[in-house]
Amino acid sequence: MIGSQNGSMKSGRDGGPVDRADVVIVGFGIAGMTAAREAHRMTPQASIAIVSAQNHPTIYYPALKQFLMGRLGREQLVAIPPDMERIQQIAVLRATVEQVATREKRVQLIGGRSISYDSLLLATGRRSRELPGTLPGSDFDGVTTAYSLTDYFDLRRRLAEASDVVVVGGGIHGLETVMAVLHHRLRITWLMRSSTCLPDYLDGTASALVLDRVRQAGVKILTETEVAEILGRVGAVSGVVTSRDQVIAAQLVITCLGTLPNIALAEQSDRPLRVEPDEGFLVDDWLRTSEASIYAAGSVAALPDRLLGRAAVRSQWADAEQQGAVAAARLVGREGTSRPPLGASWVTTSIGKLSLVAIGDTLGRMPGASTWTDSRSKGIYRRVTLAKERVVGYLSLGPTTPDPLAIKYVIDEGLALSAISAILQGADGGGRGATAARVERAASPPASSAISSGPLSGAADVALPGGLGNFAREGES
Ligand SMILES: Cc1cc2nc3c(=O)[nH]c(=O)nc-3n(C[C@H](O)[C@H](O)[C@H](O)COP(=O)(O)OP(=O)(O)OC[C@H]3O[C@@H](n4cnc5c(N)ncnc54)[C@H](O)[C@@H]3O)c2cc1C
Repeated sequence: MIGSQNGSMKSGRDGGPVDRADVVIVGFGIAGMTAAREAHRMTPQASIAIVSAQNHPTIYYPALKQFLMGRLGREQLVAIPPDMERIQQIAVLRATVEQVATREKRVQLIGGRSISYDSLLLATGRRSRELPGTLPGSDFDGVTTAYSLTDYFDLRRRLAEASDVVVVGGGIHGLETVMAVLHHRLRITWLMRSSTCLPDYLDGTASALVLDRVRQAGVKILTETEVAEILGRVGAVSGVVTSRDQVIAAQLVITCLGTLPNIALAEQSDRPLRVEPDEGFLVDDWLRTSEASIYAAGSVAALPDRLLGRAAVRSQWADAEQQGAVAAARLVGREGTSRPPLGASWVTTSIGKLSLVAIGDTLGRMPGASTWTDSRSKGIYRRVTLAKERVVGYLSLGPTTPDPLAIKYVIDEGLALSAISAILQGADGGGRGATAARVERAASPPASSAISSGPLSGAADVALPGGLGNFAREGES
């Protein structure tokens, strides 16, 4: 039974048990949980119910790789102290929502029960993309994704028994999985479809630096290669045949092929919600879906992305948390209290001692963008993308990195190049406080910065400010 501290759960007109909450949230990940807690903080008298299919508390997904390495235990994955929802009197129901009746403002749960709402948040997250079911051998035991908590429990047990592992997928998730599995001192082959890794963020130079490090760590890397068939013995995987006819021994095949949004409810609704395919529920700057009282947040919300010029998800933990807080204000009618969730997409990770930060349009794909690279500083590779006098992308690979959140702030706020320069100078010393002060000083309008007015696509127009002295326009030395 859904409970409520103020007795606002109501009975149906027929006397039957039709539960009700002011705010209903579908999803118990960080977006849903943050929204519930923030909504409670802003409006303690509101009844809040979370419905989720998940069988565990809200966990900190970024720590799963550490868990895989054996550096963390199960209990350390819990993101929010257990029972927090009970203390804050947020009702949590383990169930799957199968339908949304938008006209009646009601969610229908599998099993026949329904809950009415005033406002609804869909924070249903994503799931792992799998190998096509038609791929021979894809159903052998030992072919697995590395996405859910169950996957990681399973992988920890399996890694103890394996000697050869194939990781499929050249994105950030594939890279981090390879690095985590390396910790178990197994033979690893890393397969990727494209010629470079992290193709959404890294150019050829940066990819080569990353792949070299991974190779040096003992991993065999096959680029422009896909899985053609999975071989098995007595129902369990024994190897992989590649699209180049190589045969690789493996007792474990871990697929990291990207993710898909959990948006089935868009169609299972009396008025279908608008979606951006492969991204998520289409929302406005304030996370509202195409239905007035329904919001979406977290890794299933496709927000306007002004850098990309289309709707896109931000699938990082911090984004989901921020969006949960923004959605909360809307759910309880406190619109004035928050800013729209901003943000370029970004990744940070490390490959041994090599740190990687990639934010926004690192590849210069935006119309009119120009890219500046620094490969002259020892042991460091950096790229800055500029468009209309603004920084729109930043990539850094090296033993140390500047504060990635400070750089993301510069990009998200559309600040001038001089602000990046201030951060890079800050990377040499002075700490975060000093960096913030320098960014503040440097973040004056572009006209007063070191960049001359006029199109940045013309290299001659640009005078790079201090801290960027080693950068040269791409294509020039
Ligand atoms: C393995 C892994 C590693 C990651 N590493 C990093 C990292 O290093 N850094 C980083 O920033 N981000 C990382 N992320 C991404 C980050 O964790 C996610 O962006 C974030 O957790 C998304 O939270 P969410 O609340 O939007 O969705 P989720 O946490 O996916 O929650 C979705 C919820 O919706 C529920 N649900 C879905 N459909 C229904 C339904 N019909 N009925 C009821 N309930 C439903 C699910 O049960 C679940 O409770 C990682 C993610 C994974 C999986």
